Amino acid sequence: MKQDNLLVIGALGQIGSELTTALRKNFGEKHVVASDIVEKRTMKNQEGIYEHLNVLDKERLKIIIKKYKISHVYLLAAILSARAEDNPHFAWRLNMESLFNVLELAREGHIKKVFWPSSIAIFGPTTPRKSTPQHTVTDPTTAYGISKLAGERWCEYYFEKFRVDVRSLRYPGLISYQTQPGGGTTDYAVDIFFQAVKKNAYTCFLSEQTYLPMMYMPDALRATIEIMDAAAAKIKLRSSYNLSAMSFSPKEIAQEIQKHRPDFKISYKPDFRQQIADSWPASIDDSFARKDWGWRHAYDLKKMTQDMLQHLHK
Ligand code: NAD
Repeated sequence: MKQDNLLVIGALGQIGSELTTALRKNFGEKHVVASDIVEKRTMKNQEGIYEHLNVLDKERLKIIIKKYKISHVYLLAAILSARAEDNPHFAWRLNMESLFNVLELAREGHIKKVFWPSSIAIFGPTTPRKSTPQHTVTDPTTAYGISKLAGERWCEYYFEKFRVDVRSLRYPGLISYQTQPGGGTTDYAVDIFFQAVKKNAYTCFLSEQTYLPMMYMPDALRATIEIMDAAAAKIKLRSSYNLSAMSFSPKEIAQEIQKHRPDFKISYKPDFRQQIADSWPASIDDSFARKDWGWRHAYDLKKMTQDMLQHLHK
């Protein structure tokens, strides 16, 4: 059987750098092309094929797809929630045009399968906050959330109208010891671990009772790989799937860290990101993902904290 060739766009970001490594393990190094707008010299894992790409340049994207006979594209280039507020028009342009470029190339028959992540940011202040259902009010108030919601509608449209095999997950906040986050509202849950190990103290930019849905990176990578591997008939939602693992507040994660580092201290200094967090769900109901393609998370707060601290101490 002919082996699929994969292209990761935004491969040097928080998710992209770990997803590229995971895909190379599964598919073989020469079948996974990493690409990003950043020059390769800043790349952590220097091995493997790398192409410098601005995803807004559709012609160059097409050249890369043809050059490596790419069949699957993982589109991770985006401007995230907190950063998007600095330049909402550019965030809209990048987040939408990148998706159109990839969906159009798929419609034209150059790509077989597309992965594009959405986010819990598609929900808004009047969405039910606890155990937010798959189908509910979506009234995002951030530039980022507006772009992700529009992206979901276009994914479904391209599937319905043109049979483009596009698959998507509404990632919660993602936590990893390997990569730094890219300017999102849930970044505190990564920073807190790095600062706990470095300084035994952390000042949180969200208030102590701000509950948000979160996920450990190994779960997010597995979910991404599993939804792309699933038989097409199992993917019944072509907008994007709710995806969930845990929900906690800054106070709860601090208490969990204190079980390992009793001297760890947390203080709170909420900034503009508090308002964004307050408009998002506290927890997510992901029963559609569990039923349709068998999603199961492996890490809760306790297991993740143990693993994060163990790796950061090393
Ligand atoms: P990130 O900011 O860490 O990485 C994005 C990467 O895209 C960067 O390496 C950047 O250099 C690259 N990029 C930016 N502009 C580009 C362009 N024009 N052409 C090519 N590459 C470009 O983001 P991330 O956290 O890895 O997120 C990846 C995707 O997952 C995004 O779509 C994001 O919205 C989504 N997501 C992330 C989270 C999270 O917690 N990290 C949560 C929900 C959804």
